[in-house]
This record gives sequence, C-alpha cells and structure tokens, in this order.
Amino acid sequence: MTDRLRLAVPNKGRLVEPTLALLHDAGLVFESTDRSLVARVRNFDLDILFVRTNDVIEFVRDAVADLGVTGIDLLCESGADLPQVRLLGYGQCRLAAAVPADSPYQSLQDLSGLRVATAHPNATRSFFAAQSVPIEVIPISGAVEVAPRLGLAEAIVDLVSSGSTLIMNGLRPIADVLASEAVLVANPDARDTRSVELKAIETMLSAVIAARDKKYLMMNALASKLAELEALLPGLSGPSVIPLAHEGMIAIHSVVEADAVWGLLPRLKAAGASGILVLPIEKIVP
Ligand code: AMP
Repeated sequence: MTDRLRLAVPNKGRLVEPTLALLHDAGLVFESTDRSLVARVRNFDLDILFVRTNDVIEFVRDAVADLGVTGIDLLCESGADLPQVRLLGYGQCRLAAAVPADSPYQSLQDLSGLRVATAHPNATRSFFAAQSVPIEVIPISGAVEVAPRLGLAEAIVDLVSSGSTLIMNGLRPIADVLASEAVLVANPDARDTRSVELKAIETMLSAVIAARDKKYLMMNALASKLAELEALLPGLSGPSVIPLAHEGMIAIHSVVEADAVWGLLPRLKAAGASGILVLPIEKIVP
C-alpha cells in the first residue's frame, strides 16, 4: 500500500539502538533485522525504512519518507529546512572546536586565519562566520581528531560527548559550536497533509520520553504524617492519597523524578513512610 506512513531511521551507528528502543517502547510492533531495508509495523499504518544515518534527511526532504530520525548536528550540516517534530532525548553530544593541548591557542579568536579540519564543514563555516573569525575549513570525512597531528590543520571541530576522546588524542576543547541530540523531523508536505497520523506518532513517542525520567512511588503511612510526606512529594499534580482499611492509615502514590528517588527514600522513611515501592512508568500522556 502506498499510503502507509514512512519513517526513515539510521541503520548503523550510535542512533540505531536508542531509536529502536524508543519505537518498541512506544508500542510499535515490528521486526528489525540488519538486512531488511523496510520493516512493516504490524499495529500501526507505518513502514520503517532503515537507511544510512547521513541519508535520513535526504529521504525526508525528497518525500521518500514522511518522518525521519536524525541528529541536530546532521540537520544543521545539511542546511535542510525540515520541520522538527520533537527532540528525542538521546544522542546528546556537542560539536566542539578543539586544539592540540600543548598549542598556544586559547580562544576562538586565536584561530583567526588558521585551518580547521572537520566532518561538519557547513556548520563550522557558519559558526565561525557568525563569530566573525575568518578560518579555512578543511573538510574531512573521518578521524578528524588526528588532523592536527598529521599537519592538516591547527584545530578541529568534532562531535564530543564526554570529551574523553579529545583528551585521549591530546586535544583541548576551546569552544562549543553546537549542542545536538536526536530529533524527529518531518517532510513539510507530510506535516500538512498527514497531520493526524503525525500527531499520533508524536503523542506515542512523547508519552515514552516523558515517562523515562520518572518513577512511580507508592507507600503507606499514618494519616497524621500526610503533611510532612506531601511536602517531599510534588508529583505530577500533587500525590494521590488513598485511605486504607486500617483506621488512620493511608497509601500515598506519587510520580517523581527518577534521579531524585535515591535521595528521597531515606527522607520518606524518616518522615514515617513504610512499604515503599518504586515502579517504572511506561507512558505519561499529560
Ligand atoms: P554515527 O552514525 O555513530 O556516526 O553517529 C550519528 C550521530 O550520532 C551523530 O551525527 C550525532 O548526532 C550522534 N551522536 C551522539 N553522540 C555522539 C558522539 N559522542 N560522537 C558522535 N556522534 C554522536
């Protein structure tokens, strides 16, 4: 059928695993084997196209796919003016300008007139132009971090997440060029003509992303401890308080930030909570 919605996703590299996890967590049922180009989603009118990371944007721009998963860095580099449906909460990294650790360069201005090697020539060019620092961009497609050692350039602009690769290669970051993460993009026509289906996908994905950094807490306590416990539990719209069969006892349920749980548990216990359960949340639709 030609009118099934098509979503292009990377078939190799860092974005593959988190993208597949997100789609599966959203409840889409499909088989993904490395060799198949197209996976048919069984419970939604959607085909998933597995393509090279660098081709996702072109597929969406050319309307071969209605939606695509890519990185902000790649979008910026391509210059494609595609509508961003939503950020996806993974693939966080940044494009950073770096120089050899033992070089005298400390700031962007120090790179004026020098060569900068990068696999992101367009993003690099526009960043330095916006900073009014004239440089020569040396486009290379891989192993950017060895360019200074090879004498190809005085500096590089490369993707960094922790920064440890830069350090391992004897480099020192001097400026951030761009913050990136994975993003769901749409073809502009599809956004207009298939808005209902796109909204359904966006809602499914958003529900999973919203739930990922949250936990569901359940606990019992004496009703007299409610005020003290409530002060510790903001929840989505305040905690739910449920009377228990035993007189004077309540159950409190609340949604909390996952990162806050470990700090919260001893304080809840000290404030009188018992039988505390911490549960994962599958989806949140506000
Ligand atoms: P890959 O296909 O593995 O080369 O990476 C594709 C995309 O993953 C990049 O364009 C970024 O959007 C994203 N990414 C996330 N973290 C990193 C990282 N530490 N290094 C490179 N790319 C990253």
